[in-house]
Amino acid sequence: MAKYFGTNGIRGTFEVLTPLLALRASQAIGDYFNGGNVLVGRDCRLTSPTLHKAVLSGLESVGCSVTDLGIVTTPTAEFMVEKLHPDGLIIITASHNPPEWNALKVIDAKGVALSKERGEGIEEAIDAGVPLSSWDKAGSTTDYETATQDHLAAILSEVDVEKIKKRRLKVVLDCANGVPALLGPKLFEALGCEVILLNSEMDGHFPGRPSEPREENIQEMLRLTLDSKADFGIAWDGDGDRIVMADSKGEFIIGDRVFALCALLKLKEAPGPVVTTVATSKAVADVAQKFGQRIDYTAVGAPYLSELASKGECAIAGEEVGGVIWPEVSLAKDGFLTAAKIAEAVCGKPLSEWLAEFPFYYNVKGKVPCEPSEIEAKMDSIPIPEDAQVVRVDGVRLNFEDSWVIFRPSGTEPLIRVFAESTNEEKAKELVEKYEKLLK
Ligand code: MG
Repeated sequence: MAKYFGTNGIRGTFEVLTPLLALRASQAIGDYFNGGNVLVGRDCRLTSPTLHKAVLSGLESVGCSVTDLGIVTTPTAEFMVEKLHPDGLIIITASHNPPEWNALKVIDAKGVALSKERGEGIEEAIDAGVPLSSWDKAGSTTDYETATQDHLAAILSEVDVEKIKKRRLKVVLDCANGVPALLGPKLFEALGCEVILLNSEMDGHFPGRPSEPREENIQEMLRLTLDSKADFGIAWDGDGDRIVMADSKGEFIIGDRVFALCALLKLKEAPGPVVTTVATSKAVADVAQKFGQRIDYTAVGAPYLSELASKGECAIAGEEVGGVIWPEVSLAKDGFLTAAKIAEAVCGKPLSEWLAEFPFYYNVKGKVPCEPSEIEAKMDSIPIPEDAQVVRVDGVRLNFEDSWVIFRPSGTEPLIRVFAESTNEEKAKELVEKYEKLLK
């Protein structure tokens, strides 16, 4: 069981991820990257400057040469791996977590985030301690100040800027009071859009809304999109790697429908397999099927997604919460490139018409308390219906013609989560109830 690494990096409140742990962890990470060149980026959380200093010190003390990207979005920092070819990257950000949280996300030279399995060696080194470099071999830090501009230029080269400019889209941008404020407004101004901004001041207290873009947290964006007669609205999560949206009627568009749309746009242009997590809507599989493409499922968590995407076979990869990887640019989930691609598509027809190209699924969630020692036997005891296509990557996912259900152990609590989707709301409920009963 991982001691420090969670689903994506070393994460905790300030009492857990202290400056001292950040320093020791960075020494271990610097050692893992063989004392090479390591990029460092950070978000605007209140504890980020303090952890940032500890991270720089830790890396330098084991001989790393550090390139400090300063305050950047997560996809910007990850894009810089493609551009600068370092040995690794540390991003200081807790993404969508509450303000008292922070994390060190670790990315390797290929641009793949380290999963908890791959972080095991680093954990051992944190506990054992890493030898310091000799006094005359300590590393140093160089500032790199144009990461955001570089990333912006790369995004603009991926879309038809003139076409979007001509259309004069009106958009509402909810930047979550986080680092998306650095790039989101600039991007849409460069695309010639009329921009209405929400929560666009960076503030580590996150005064406007929680940084997790759940439907209940972004009501203001939904309302403003409707009231201002905008073409669409966008809400980023706290570090900008994923988006949810509003259509012109102010209707909420959940993350996996955003991904399904991106898959549709990508496969129209360049067909290829689609990579996604086992928790993602069947709408994505429907899109893949429409283009005769395979869908490859991974365990839930961004590192698993980028690991599989790095094998170079997929056209696009994405996760249920609205993170989309466009492998032609980087192996990062990029909430800005995603936003720009959708803006380009909306020049052709309204967002709601694009979304009507694949089925709408109702989803229902349930859970069954279960002691961790009994989880495996319980899950194995469930009979598999004959008409089900089974996916056993992370829990058990059963795909049916117009519905699917998954049961998988919770990563944090003693329970099995049950989740179902169907084009028929009653059927989704029935599926959850049926499997809750079987798992009891
Ligand atoms: Mg994030």
